[in-house]
Amino acid sequence: MTRYIFVTGGVVSSLGKGIISASIGKLLQARGYTITIQKIDPYINIDPGTLNPYEHGECYVTVDGTETDLDLGHYERFTGIRTTQANSVTTGKIYKTVIDKERHGDYLGKTIQVVPHITDEIKHRIMQNTDVDFVIQEIGGTIGDIEAAPFLEAIRQLKWELGNRAASVHLTYIPYLKAADELKTKPTQHSVKELQAAGIQPDVLVLRTEKHLSDGVRQKVASFCNVDLECVVQSEDLPSIYEVPVNMQRQGLDAALLRKFGLPVGETPKMEGWHRFLELQRTANKEVHVGLVGKYDLQDAYKSIRESLILAGIYNHVKVKIDFINSENITKENVAEQFSGVAGILVCPGFGQRGIEGKIVAVEYARLNNLPAFGVCLGMQMMVIEFARNVLGYKDANSSEMDANTPHNVIDMMEEQKTITNLGGTMRLGAYSCNLREGSRVAEIYGSLQISERHRHRYEFNNKYKDEYEKNGMKCVGVNPESDLVEIVEIPCHRWFIGTQFHPEYSSTVLHPHPLFMSFIKEIAQ
Ligand code: GLN
Repeated sequence: MTRYIFVTGGVVSSLGKGIISASIGKLLQARGYTITIQKIDPYINIDPGTLNPYEHGECYVTVDGTETDLDLGHYERFTGIRTTQANSVTTGKIYKTVIDKERHGDYLGKTIQVVPHITDEIKHRIMQNTDVDFVIQEIGGTIGDIEAAPFLEAIRQLKWELGNRAASVHLTYIPYLKAADELKTKPTQHSVKELQAAGIQPDVLVLRTEKHLSDGVRQKVASFCNVDLECVVQSEDLPSIYEVPVNMQRQGLDAALLRKFGLPVGETPKMEGWHRFLELQRTANKEVHVGLVGKYDLQDAYKSIRESLILAGIYNHVKVKIDFINSENITKENVAEQFSGVAGILVCPGFGQRGIEGKIVAVEYARLNNLPAFGVCLGMQMMVIEFARNVLGYKDANSSEMDANTPHNVIDMMEEQKTITNLGGTMRLGAYSCNLREGSRVAEIYGSLQISERHRHRYEFNNKYKDEYEKNGMKCVGVNPESDLVEIVEIPCHRWFIGTQFHPEYSSTVLHPHPLFMSFIKEIAQ
């Protein structure tokens, strides 16, 4: 029997609903339950694939090739589950399904309305997850947003229909007013009232706060909002997001939920692996600086890469400090100075022309100065272009993404992709297998000759040039067995110089950090 936990947020955005949802998932897993976490985003885009990272942060890709919200990255990193297209729902997807059905005549002449047709489709998307013990359903946005109304109505109906198989967790904010030296509960009261006005009584309240809340504050919230005191927990600022699950467990959030569902509570699970990880995190004190060469100076734009670097650092007993280096400002003249404080660089993924030449300068500097360099997707393509220009002697080498008429298109679009015009349809998305060359550095790092990794790109290494690269010292050590496309390049005589056409950062988790990130950090931590 599947149970459903609806997670909503109130007062302000950016409270960390994704982290709370992932933590609830982790705690239930630790008790032996199977879980999945689904995110509903109330925007009209079909998926975030076409969104500028400045709008919505990184676009996360599932193994089955769906472009999704970055919260799915948190779900995977915390719980180790593999998400799929079913874990990501948007208003755009809901409306598209309903409108397609209407055009197809499936509604037999009925007037199509938000209630019941849109709400029914939302309910259907939520209820299709039936193969796990718990579905944690995160609703994006903030209570009171116009866009969220159909989702709240669907939840209201489901709560009514499912009875004690459904629970509502509401995350709010308790601001601290410095001048008055007081923590204020009123915004939370209003937010809960708004939820109640939509017909939803929260079962659990998670109060985000920068200052510890006394029992008196929790008591006040409990009695004003009709929620049991044991179901009012606080989520204080913590040194790391990975402390959140144990902090929630300490306050009995999982136990409170189980009681709501009428399930036995039993002993609190020990979560030994997780605690071991936290202990390593607390004791890692040597700092290692990594230069993140990209164009978006926004924490969330390279979220999975940042987390993968930090996680790999913890397992290598170092605290990774990420220095963002805007590739638009990198020149031949200043590159040495820009990289003077970093032990290695990671050249980021990306699309379009902006900041490209700076990335190429960065790669050249790393190659010539034996500075460890990790290129991810566009970063790998920059490694390939730089090598063509400065080693193979093709001064005009480029990707046909940047220069459609380049005579040396060392990065080019695959023939079959050239005719697709619908954005989102043109990309190689999701997991593809890759064979590694025996004796290569990557084969040693992975400890295997066959891997599978996730992709998100349109352009590819142009195999026409493969022999020249091989002869001149850049080795094509990872190849897709079906298409023969090059997925990994490395320079064996360099300290650490590896570029991957895929995105290893999507599959690095707290308990299983990705081997490439582990190896990169190990090299630079020495
Ligand atoms: N813009 C490049 C391509 O489409 C790289 C994409 C990426 O870095 N995700 O191939």
